Amino acid sequence: MIGAPGAGKGTQAAILAERLGLPHVASGDLFREAVRAGTRLGGEAKRYMDRGALVPDPVVIGMIEERLDRADAANGVILDGFPRTRPQAESLDAALVQRGARVDAALYVGVPEEDLVGRLSGRWLCRAAGHPYHVISRPPAVPGICDVDGSELYQRDDDRPETVRARLEQQLPPMYDVIDHYTTQGVLVAVDGTASIDGVTEALLQAIAHPARPGRSEAA
Ligand code: AMP
Repeated sequence: MIGAPGAGKGTQAAILAERLGLPHVASGDLFREAVRAGTRLGGEAKRYMDRGALVPDPVVIGMIEERLDRADAANGVILDGFPRTRPQAESLDAALVQRGARVDAALYVGVPEEDLVGRLSGRWLCRAAGHPYHVISRPPAVPGICDVDGSELYQRDDDRPETVRARLEQQLPPMYDVIDHYTTQGVLVAVDGTASIDGVTEALLQAIAHPARPGRSEAA
């Protein structure tokens, strides 16, 4: 799943993972878990995350490869927030070839850049599982409490307006390189991320059910 910070790709990735029975592998969640657990990876990642910068490619790639080698990933995963640069996309291709797999569909959730700051600064997540809410577009039934599991809602440190702007400035240009990479491979599907949550999900499920595969033979 490809999308700018705030485009709703995490929300959609969680829904798709559930509907398709696949693990939801979110690089940002893996980093946040490592930060909470106080591991070396967490310490290294935090220095970049606090500035809204991307964590260096080798660190991210190593972490994702390890995740892909876990037993529950054998039938595929929904990758969310990875790859975010062209070198990450190229490394993912190579890692998948080694495992006899490939990127079946690169799903891009597109939202106009001017909408992203508002989407991010109104975002709240639950402490237990990261279920996402938004003050305007998706408020919880009880303010400050997750509808799904009753845990407390919080705002991510990097959703503060200064960091949001840095994230967009630093992360959008490489995202367009990733889109270009998968367009060239013929596996990119773009959906309109401004539609309702259900509408975006339906568009994504359609795209997965009927993947375009120009440039690849049936035997590939
Ligand atoms: P996210 O939850 O996807 O917004 O990710 C939170 C932060 O983790 C990002 O702002 C980056 O600092 C870092 N991060 C997550 N995924 C990647 C990635 N694929 N490459 C580099 N940094 C990443």
